[in-house]
Amino acid sequence: MERRPGRQLTVAPLEPLGLYVHIPFCSAICNYCNFNRGLFDAAQKARYVDALVRDIATRPCNRFGDPADTIYFGGGTPSLLAPADVARVIAACRDAFDVTADAEITLEANPESVDPAKLAAFRAAGVNRLSFGVQSFRDAELRRLSRLHDAARAGAALAEARAAGFDNVSLDLMMWLPEQRVDEWLASVDAAIACAPEHLSLYLLEVYPNAPLRDTMARAQWSQAPDDDAAAMYLSAMERLDAAGYEQYEISNVARPGRASRHNLKYWTDGEWFAFGCGAHGTIGGVRSKNVSAIDEYIDRLARGESPVSEAHRMDAAEQLGDALFTGLRLTGGINLDTVRARYGVDVWAKYRTDLAPFLEAGLLRREGEVLALTRRGMLLANEVMTVFV
Ligand code: SF4
Repeated sequence: MERRPGRQLTVAPLEPLGLYVHIPFCSAICNYCNFNRGLFDAAQKARYVDALVRDIATRPCNRFGDPADTIYFGGGTPSLLAPADVARVIAACRDAFDVTADAEITLEANPESVDPAKLAAFRAAGVNRLSFGVQSFRDAELRRLSRLHDAARAGAALAEARAAGFDNVSLDLMMWLPEQRVDEWLASVDAAIACAPEHLSLYLLEVYPNAPLRDTMARAQWSQAPDDDAAAMYLSAMERLDAAGYEQYEISNVARPGRASRHNLKYWTDGEWFAFGCGAHGTIGGVRSKNVSAIDEYIDRLARGESPVSEAHRMDAAEQLGDALFTGLRLTGGINLDTVRARYGVDVWAKYRTDLAPFLEAGLLRREGEVLALTRRGMLLANEVMTVFV
């Protein structure tokens, strides 16, 4: 299947930075979740925000003062923060970095954790993009996932966001849910389209070995649809989103023209970002780092004036190239072979053409001029194609 031109791996030295801020608190723990999160505790949250502000102000690096054009509050459930907490963290970012006037400032939110006043206060604090964890517009599916909201609340939260002045809203949906059939999934996609968000992220549910959902599914005798149905869910949802005027720009992401996530594109276009908060990963100057995962350890380290970074790894040239190819191919615009040659000194086509040939012949990859990209069917089998580069 032919794709529209999309974003592409570009040579982007000294592109503005991204700033990721992890908020690990949730009101309840969903039965499928394997993110770094814990139950909300007001006293711990207050100490955590203090630690975050200290981390942003004191992280030893030589890049303070550099331009940053995105701040992304991810979680967890960042909408459990008070708007004043969010304002404090944004102010700390502005003090430490040259945050551009038009910076994209995203806050992940759960529908049940917001109301009109809180959303207006987030907007006043400087947040200009919301990403709602909706997952499904069918109440039975939401209950199976142990989510706290229902479909009506999800729709209401989006309407409240509009009323609060947000003109850039994203929704997350999950497919391949327990007992979900293709037409039920498409009903959620249609409901999402009817809400007219600027951006949508579509994920396949992965039931991890130690997820409580796995036991629940066994007890309740719930199953996931066959693999072929999962493929049909993905392909038919993307076709509906095409027809509704969305552009797919990454395996799991579609947006109205000009509304792709500027922050997430840094992950896929060789960008650089700082990561603040427990368990957060950052990449700056070819060094990939990770902060301590436990909430209290993160707080304690910063209270003692210590670095929260628990792992740091300078990627060698081969790793950087592998990473650039792996992430660049997630984009519908794929990778530009000339750009990769200029940046890494490697002729990817000469090096991998024999291994890539079967995927080209099978219609999973396409090469047009210097562009190498996955087709939409190829996106379903991206992991297989990408093993060529690993
Ligand atoms: S709200 Fe999100 S981060 Fe929190 S437990 Fe549920 S899935 Fe995990």
